[in-house]
Amino acid sequence: MDCKYIWMNGKLIPGTEAQMPFLTPAVHYGMAVFEGIRCYRTAKGPAVFRLREHIERLHRSAAVLGWRELPFTVGQLMEACQETIRANGHEECYIRPLVFLTNGGWNLNIDTGQAHVGIAVWPWKAYLGAKAEEQGVRANVSSFTRHHPNVMMTKAKIAGNYPNSVLAKTESVRLGFDEAIMLDTQGLVSECTGANIFIVKGNQVMTPPAAQILDGITRETVMTLAREMGLTVGEQTISRDQLYMANEVFVTGTAAEVIPVREIDFRTIGNGRAGPITQKLQQAYHAAVRGELPRAAEWLSYVSSR
Ligand code: PMP
Repeated sequence: MDCKYIWMNGKLIPGTEAQMPFLTPAVHYGMAVFEGIRCYRTAKGPAVFRLREHIERLHRSAAVLGWRELPFTVGQLMEACQETIRANGHEECYIRPLVFLTNGGWNLNIDTGQAHVGIAVWPWKAYLGAKAEEQGVRANVSSFTRHHPNVMMTKAKIAGNYPNSVLAKTESVRLGFDEAIMLDTQGLVSECTGANIFIVKGNQVMTPPAAQILDGITRETVMTLAREMGLTVGEQTISRDQLYMANEVFVTGTAAEVIPVREIDFRTIGNGRAGPITQKLQQAYHAAVRGELPRAAEWLSYVSSR
């Protein structure tokens, strides 16, 4: 990743100088929390989509991991994201804030170290490949089980949660698929390695309940857009064979956006192409992030030219 400037603990520094010492407990024990946010080009200039919700989730993730306070408030970190985008001169980019444990914490006690915060931004186009949006992806049900919420805190974006996703994703791609769908410890569908999952049956759009998964901000956005289109939207437990029998399956995430799943475990989903409801939701999502949907105005933070 080529970053001109990275924001580190309140200051912008050249990207090449943003180095972490080898002896950083965050790296050894995964004691860090992060966010993935996107900034889009709009008619009124670059705007960050749902910035407040992402930074609030960052604070909540930190609290779930055990930090009692962070050195920067939600407002300060929102402004820091905007400052980093301005400094790097991007119109569209991905934004990655990371809170990491350093200066102590070797005894596995978060209270004995300090929280430092960095923010990087870089241009990142299609997370699941250029053709995924139109043609859909091929997925497998992973041989790896998603974390149990009493083992890892699935609703927090903790760095140490992600080897679970790396195991599943690497296996999936080596098997020739694009993405892995993970089941929970009861064998029910939970989510993908970096995205939430939905099924469509008739006029109903269903997604697994929030308890076991990362409560995605795109998931919530898409549920809102679907409801406003008059679709019936619900959270329900979903079994592996319900995936196979769905009319449409799609995944959602900030990086992935809204991506159809055209095949699961060698079974064609629907007609093997992006279904009509998936397409409508994709279009509405695109319009929302680009400021073309009046109801989405409250979701955009314009990167002012200060
Ligand atoms: N699940 C997992 C495991 C993820 O890493 C992500 C990406 N943050 C998501 C779901 C989607 O969340 P969001 O829509 O907030 O990006």
